[in-house]
Amino acid sequence: MSSEKLDNLIEERTTQLERANRERHEELAESHRLPEAPREPEGERCQLALEGTGDSIWDWNIVTGAIDLDGYWTVMLGYEPAEIDFNFDWWFNRIHKEDIPAFEAALNAYLEGREKWYELEYRMQTKTGEWKWIWARGQCVARDEQNQPLRLLGTHRDITARKIAEDKLRQERDLLNGIMQTSVAAITVVDAGGKIIFANERSQEVLGLTQGELVDCLYNAPEWKITDFEGGPFPEEQLPFRQVMATGTPIFDVQHAIEWGDGTRKYLSINGAPLIDSSGAIARVVLSITDITDRLRVEEQLLHDALHDALTGLPNRILFVERVEHALKLSKRHQDYLFAVLFLDLDRFKVVNDSLGHRIGDQLLVAIARELERCLRNTDTVARLGGDEFTILLEDINDLKDATKVAERIQKILKSPFIVEGHEVFTSASIGIALSSTGYDCAEDLLRDADIAMYRAKELGKARHEVFDKVMHASALKLLQLENDLRRALERQEFEVYYQPITSLFTGTLTGFEALLRWHHPTQGLVSPLEFIPVAEETGLILPLGRWVLHEACRQLHTWHTQFPMTEPLKISVNLSGKQLKELEFIEQIDQILEKTGLDGRFLKLEITESVLMDNADTATKMLLQLRARNIQLSVDDFGTGYSSLSYLHRFPVNTLKIDRSFVSQMNPNDRNCEIVRTIVTLAHSLRMDVIAEGVETLEQLSELKLLKCEQGQGYFFSKPLTKEAAGKLLTQVPQW
Ligand code: C2E
Ligand code: MG
Ligand code: MG
Repeated sequence: MSSEKLDNLIEERTTQLERANRERHEELAESHRLPEAPREPEGERCQLALEGTGDSIWDWNIVTGAIDLDGYWTVMLGYEPAEIDFNFDWWFNRIHKEDIPAFEAALNAYLEGREKWYELEYRMQTKTGEWKWIWARGQCVARDEQNQPLRLLGTHRDITARKIAEDKLRQERDLLNGIMQTSVAAITVVDAGGKIIFANERSQEVLGLTQGELVDCLYNAPEWKITDFEGGPFPEEQLPFRQVMATGTPIFDVQHAIEWGDGTRKYLSINGAPLIDSSGAIARVVLSITDITDRLRVEEQLLHDALHDALTGLPNRILFVERVEHALKLSKRHQDYLFAVLFLDLDRFKVVNDSLGHRIGDQLLVAIARELERCLRNTDTVARLGGDEFTILLEDINDLKDATKVAERIQKILKSPFIVEGHEVFTSASIGIALSSTGYDCAEDLLRDADIAMYRAKELGKARHEVFDKVMHASALKLLQLENDLRRALERQEFEVYYQPITSLFTGTLTGFEALLRWHHPTQGLVSPLEFIPVAEETGLILPLGRWVLHEACRQLHTWHTQFPMTEPLKISVNLSGKQLKELEFIEQIDQILEKTGLDGRFLKLEITESVLMDNADTATKMLLQLRARNIQLSVDDFGTGYSSLSYLHRFPVNTLKIDRSFVSQMNPNDRNCEIVRTIVTLAHSLRMDVIAEGVETLEQLSELKLLKCEQGQGYFFSKPLTKEAAGKLLTQVPQW
């Protein structure tokens, strides 16, 4: 068959099929057809349909101004039909003022043919004064021969509910926008595939991407990779949005870092919540991302500062104790684990500070810190406890020798001078060593014992090291006992004031007494002030104790003044500790004591040792001037033993120098000590001060002192310190030496 024939055949068959199909369809339609329902007239049908929509009809005759409004319209505004004036003005007056321009514009646009419909939304006032939103739509239904509009016809629909809903929606959107814009966190929305589909402005800064780069990029952007805080990989399933997708619940403070190619890292804290779609599935995840890099840095710095010394950067006491505790734990677990704590105190660091200034002192400390670090292993810890005190923890050593070797190495390093700002500074250190093998329970005990050993090294001549041993332990215990006993001694009235006469070397008559404290210990008998005064100073007990002595001595002298009137009344010398001088209320106390005891200030002499005076030069001067104003006299005690620079002496308002016993007791004509005494006397006189020689024991010493023009003397030659009764008896005899 030719192709032409085939084509014709196909065409013919197709036409037949189409016809058959059509007929079949018609048959089917015929079989399903409903019986014809009776229909309303067309107008009525429209009316019914319109009522179904809830809209109302208006019919406005533009020429007469009459408006025909249907019943629904009145219902909408809450009026009875009888209350309505069916004209334009009545209706126009109820339009919201703000909507009038829009009304006019919409009408003109329609009438001028710019719009196909007259259409607009505006507000109308109801009978009760509320506003209703209305949607009006209409068209011109009659025109005159000039095509001018005569009548407009249309519908009104109450859209107030929709408007309120729209308004609410807009407010919510504004609120959300406000939150997004002002949030310090980056807020992003990520789809189920991890693609960012929304990002607020702050996201650009937090994530380091432009808005363009952000939206549509994968949460794991190509510019950076997500890592843990150390830069290691962050597990995919722990990614915040993955966690929310997996659990369907919010997450809080999931932390990870993002790292750029150049190694810079930002630390983030992320909160997230699922956004559920209408089918109940998690469609998206909203993430709130906070940059915590700065906070972490500050925290890190604070932690570092809390554990390190600001000047040298070395660990401080807290960190050191922590490390010793750790070492202690190790030694408890492993029998053969041995470690040592070294306590190092610089000798004469104060001299460096005082002579070269604090800045150089500080630099010296830093230089020493670096040297100490250099001569230790990485595993050891060197810390600065404050001032010129350093501690060292030597971990895992073989025996004591390892520790003493380190101490020797340090001494050796310190032997060569440090060059600080062009100054050659020589220094040395006293080192105490405590070994873990002694069986310690806490780090502080090790530190305490190393400290005790360090003090021992100082006592034995400085620039050396001592290992803490049983003897030191015993004496430390004794000291502790003394301290405890001392605390109770004052209330138990175990103290007594003794009085040692002071004599004029010119006339041989008594000029006064020095009040000297005695402690009657319940078991140890009389304890020397040389033993307990330092303990009282260290514990602060010297304050109540010193106050008591002052009061007692002043009271006693006043009694003697009344009992034994003299032309030249006796004076009382009372020793003062440095701590008392630093007490803020000291002057106030003195005033109270003088007032209570009735003693005139000019009969009171206060003795301050040379070192106390020099150590507190500034505060001392102020205090001493206040005392001077009360006519109270001042003596420098133990003069010659301290390191006072003589050029300083004239700055203080001092009346008397008391030459230390050590010079007087070894005085022989023409020897060195005699020369020293002579120099002191000359110095005192040139500064308009007088001199008391302490510890005069022999007639030879007395004669020599007289030759040197020393004004007064005190010592066993005249009398030992006496009880108040014995001293009182002495006064009845009017002694003459
Ligand atoms: P100090 O103020 O230099 O007192 C003089 C010390 O030398 C006294 O020792 C006294 O007994 C002793 N002494 C006096 N003449 C001689 C002598 O000829 N030969 C010898 N070998 N010694 C003599 P004491 O009473 O043992 O007092 C020792 C130190 O204790 C005092 O030295 C003073 O610094 C301190 N002290 C005593 N009582 C008090 C006090 O109430 N308050 C304060 N803060 N310190 C006090
Ligand atoms: Mg004294
Ligand atoms: Mg003295």
